[in-house]
Amino acid sequence: MSWKIARSADDVRETVTEAIRDGRRVKAVGFGHSFTATAVAKDVLVDLRRLDRVGRVERIDESSGEVEVEGGVAIADLNEALALQGWALANLGDVAYQSISGAISTSTHGTGVRLTGIAGQVRGLSLIDGTGAEHRIQRSDGDLFRAAAVGLGSLGIITSVRLGVVPAFVLSAVETPMRLDAVLSNLDEHVAENDHFEFFWIPHTGWAITKRNNRTPDPASPIPRLREWWQKSFLENTAFGAVCRVGRAAPGLIPRLATALPSSGRVAYSNASHKVFASARRVRFVEMEYAVPRAACTEAVVAVRKMIDEKGLRISFPVEVRFTAADDLFLSTANGRESAYIAVHMYKGTPFESYFREVEAIMRGLGGRPHWGKMHFMGAAELEPLYPGWNSFLGIRRGLDPQGLFVNDYLRRIFGLTE
Ligand SMILES: Cc1cc2nc3c(=O)[nH]c(=O)nc-3n(C[C@H](O)[C@H](O)[C@H](O)COP(=O)(O)OP(=O)(O)OC[C@H]3O[C@@H](n4cnc5c(N)ncnc54)[C@H](O)[C@@H]3O)c2cc1C
Repeated sequence: MSWKIARSADDVRETVTEAIRDGRRVKAVGFGHSFTATAVAKDVLVDLRRLDRVGRVERIDESSGEVEVEGGVAIADLNEALALQGWALANLGDVAYQSISGAISTSTHGTGVRLTGIAGQVRGLSLIDGTGAEHRIQRSDGDLFRAAAVGLGSLGIITSVRLGVVPAFVLSAVETPMRLDAVLSNLDEHVAENDHFEFFWIPHTGWAITKRNNRTPDPASPIPRLREWWQKSFLENTAFGAVCRVGRAAPGLIPRLATALPSSGRVAYSNASHKVFASARRVRFVEMEYAVPRAACTEAVVAVRKMIDEKGLRISFPVEVRFTAADDLFLSTANGRESAYIAVHMYKGTPFESYFREVEAIMRGLGGRPHWGKMHFMGAAELEPLYPGWNSFLGIRRGLDPQGLFVNDYLRRIFGLTE
């Protein structure tokens, strides 16, 4: 396997042209943060991390703008560059280590039922397809755009992305422990009343940590440095990691450890949006996440709780639940429906398959769609009925990549390809 570092769109075009000539397959990689083998290359890996320039924001009207960025830019760097110009992305995931192209290609999302995932913020993009041709694709291109914005790396290599941005804003964040039953019995209110609502249920307990982030006109009031270190670095990473390590060595202790999970109770602060949305996550884990129709959220969480109890599983990682608006992108996990995202995790080195398969069976029964960058066991036969635009997407893929230049084993499985 050869590793090519692309510093320009010309480098990408050259690599693609050489690969076509030599009969080799190509795969783009951003920061390699996916849990699936989606970015695994057999022949040529194109590393986009040096394709990382951020342009100036172009103002559209009083309340919005657009910025064009190169395809490999890290979301963390984009956040800083936008903040310097007084702008921000409207919504983000819970980390910002990803590249913009990796994030949109896997339908990466945050939380907030009135907002879409990151691909929903895309206005246009440039990609080099499997014949070496370059396309500038805009929203007005209809189906081509709806395929390209969440393309799983299967249509071509994205060299730049045009994103809608909003004026920089401050988020007020409140994190509070609540009984899970109380969260679920008022779920619609929590979701509707907050710009960004999510919760983490702690298996083996009746408790959940809720997070409410809301826009505020007030100036930022960050957590004092020492408290921030205690909360975000020590409790959420160092102490939580220690609990996971003990749980891995002695799973029987997990239910007791869960009741003593490190928490400092209610935490309230405010800060620039990107500093609230994303935080450091140093504890290593594997993850599966399913998007179900929002109305099925409570049923999904209750079923996971019941399954863990009945199977006697020992789970040290909280179950994370988030929400987004619907969008119209063919392979977006929120295509055509408001969605609840239910994510399960296992600490690194802990057997995960039986837990993940049980969760997947529950989510499949509820019409769940797997996150493209996180672990799942589905193949084309199960995936096709979940996406109304599945065959339109595959038709566009065949047109842009007729030789299967970007196909790898992961894509072969999920698209049912035999070539
Ligand atoms: C700690 C952690 C936290 C996470 N938090 C969230 C979260 O809050 N919400 C969420 O939805 N997901 C989350 N994820 C998943 C993550 O956002 C996705 O896996 C994302 O794709 C990773 O971005 P990347 O740049 O590392 O992409 P990679 O893993 O490198 O690539 C992902 C896919 O994109 C393709 N690709 C990359 N660059 C290009 C390009 N230039 N052109 C065409 N295709 C390209 C690759 O070929 C591959 O198919 C998290 C993952 C981790 C490890």
